[in-house]
Amino acid sequence: MKRTVYAADKVGFHILHTLFQTSMKYDRIHRFDEYFVTSLIVDGGACAGVVAMNLRGGTMVAIQGKATILATGGCGRVYEFTTNGFIKTGDGMALAYRAGVPLKDMEMVQFHPTCLPGTGILITEAARGEGGYLVNKDGERYMQRYLPSKMELGPRDILSRAMIQEMKAGRAFEGPYGLYMGLDLRHLGAKKINERIPMVRELVEKYMGLDPIHELIPVRPGQHYIMGGVSTNGKGETTLPGLYAVGETACVSINGANRLGSNSLSECLVFGAACGLAAAGFAKKKASYPRGAAAREALKKEEARVFDGVLGRERAKETVAGLRVEMQQLMERDVGIFREESALADACGMLGKMRDRFAAVGLADKDRVFNTELTAVLELDFMLDVALAIAHSARNRRESRGAHSRTDFPQRDDANYLKHTLAFRTDGPPRIDYVPVTVTKWQPVERKY
Ligand SMILES: Cc1cc2nc3c(=O)[nH]c(=O)nc-3n(C[C@H](O)[C@H](O)[C@H](O)COP(=O)(O)OP(=O)(O)OC[C@H]3O[C@@H](n4cnc5c(N)ncnc54)[C@H](O)[C@@H]3O)c2cc1C
Repeated sequence: MKRTVYAADKVGFHILHTLFQTSMKYDRIHRFDEYFVTSLIVDGGACAGVVAMNLRGGTMVAIQGKATILATGGCGRVYEFTTNGFIKTGDGMALAYRAGVPLKDMEMVQFHPTCLPGTGILITEAARGEGGYLVNKDGERYMQRYLPSKMELGPRDILSRAMIQEMKAGRAFEGPYGLYMGLDLRHLGAKKINERIPMVRELVEKYMGLDPIHELIPVRPGQHYIMGGVSTNGKGETTLPGLYAVGETACVSINGANRLGSNSLSECLVFGAACGLAAAGFAKKKASYPRGAAAREALKKEEARVFDGVLGRERAKETVAGLRVEMQQLMERDVGIFREESALADACGMLGKMRDRFAAVGLADKDRVFNTELTAVLELDFMLDVALAIAHSARNRRESRGAHSRTDFPQRDDANYLKHTLAFRTDGPPRIDYVPVTVTKWQPVERKY
């Protein structure tokens, strides 16, 4: 059965352009380009729209709505090394979290094994699907040590862990960006590489200055996707009436503890449609528009917080880049591919301190128009909330399951942990709770390979 779409190895590129161009065909779709959402408007226990910064105008606006859908993507940038773009800072997750909606299964973070060192650019699975080998510095196809039945076609989590183990065993290459493994396509030949995976060759030539027809591709694992997110049901509904979430920012739970490659497409298409219909139905049933007073109040509060507070802060002790890098390195080291109690405890404590230190972050650029330093500070604020939710959720799950690998609890423990984590925001550390997993047709079974 076909489970994805195919347009050479540039599928995402074509989807993005088709979606954008389609949105331009309909004049009833009003896009707010260059607007950055800073908070939700909550009135009488329901979501009544968003407050956003008009980056071009340097102003703050309230956008009211009977129903609001968060579709703000993942949060890969909380990690130092990721395949995700700079915009993936978990904004939607933090927006919902601050409005009292729990984040579900945040410990379930997927790492992809084949990323280019330095940039984090992803080398698609298709490279291994077409027959590429993973080799260590001795030229050995090391996956025979970890997963002989599947070798390079094993799942992302096992391949990523195997890479870390090879690195720890001293069998990795070393380059200007640290340790890496080799992805060998040379035996496939120029014709196959050019016809089947042209973008792999293009990316490696452009970003590494190497030709995979003749040379090994340096690769290492990087954060790629988060299975967790804003807790929703199958229609994208959250616990806050009028607020919906979909796509990578949501956790509708189709990915469990480990997403299969390409399932984001189904996530966005299937649940995007379900969520859109549910939100439209909700809005239609609401007779009156949200109160203007609530929007004005939220707007005033955000202007004071962002323009007077963050932008106006004098005598700053911290820089946004300094604190961000510290957080990213901590997440990579202590809440990364392998996890254990003392590192997780350390991460939870350090992140709590960083949360406090954030209050001393100052800006060199005081302009309101297209102030990228200001958006970076607001994104760091969102990321700190998200990182805390990830670290505390990971610390509390004392078992290994899917992408969550605890060296101190290596076994899956269905008796105690066949349940979803929920992280709730408090004034201190997140409050962690659990809800049961709904098992329908497919019974959970142990992964035996
Ligand atoms: C390199 C790479 C390759 C991938 N390949 C595949 C694949 O082959 N198949 C597959 O199924 N999945 C793939 N994925 C995963 C998939 O691309 C993502 O899960 C999916 O694109 C998420 O879509 P989304 O609409 O939820 O969010 P996004 O596409 O990330 O869109 C989020 C949007 O929200 C905007 N936004 C964020 N914060 C704010 C804010 N505060 N205010 C206003 N706007 C905001 C962003 O600017 C962005 O436009 C890949 C991911 C990566 C990184």
